[in-house]
Amino acid sequence: MSFTLAIVGRPNVGKSTLFNRLVGKRLALVDDQPGVTRDLREGDARVGDIRFTVIDTAGLENANDESLPARMRRLTERAVDMADVCLFLVDARAGILADDIVFAEILRRRAGKVILAANKAEGAAADAGVIEAYSLGLGEPIRLSAEHGEGLNDLYSFLLPIE
Ligand code: GDP
Ligand code: MG
Repeated sequence: MSFTLAIVGRPNVGKSTLFNRLVGKRLALVDDQPGVTRDLREGDARVGDIRFTVIDTAGLENANDESLPARMRRLTERAVDMADVCLFLVDARAGILADDIVFAEILRRRAGKVILAANKAEGAAADAGVIEAYSLGLGEPIRLSAEHGEGLNDLYSFLLPIE
């Protein structure tokens, strides 16, 4: 049986980078400027021998806006409803921000299974952010580096019981 995984989280945490890594093709747009990808994107993903459908969420974010735009929220809720499991990404380098807490609340209210991952976790500079992620109350964060392809073995072990 296959499943659908939605990658959710605030802009710029590395959702599209992870999507691209899981899909292995450049289907989602990645940019240094948040707000480049604008909708939900689906791809066929693989981690080891586990195959699934992955959804990348994006929105019309404004980098200078402190609060999470309504469209981003709406798209996330749509992705959550389509998914069997949500992979909630936070940025280990930035630490936990107010918008991360908003996402955690959406997921707690709306999602079934949630896997928490602290991305950009390559190197010791990310250690504090990874530890901070425990405060979201969503369990132990997986240490990921979407850009460097690190932590996918841990992701695998979280996906194995879902498959
Ligand atoms: P999204 O807005 O959540 O889809 O984030 P993107 O995938 O567009 O990535 C935002 C920025 O973070 C880009 O500059 C990426 O290169 C960078 N990024 C993504 N993953 C990592 C990572 O594992 N480590 C580091 N250092 N940077 C990353
Ligand atoms: Mg994106």
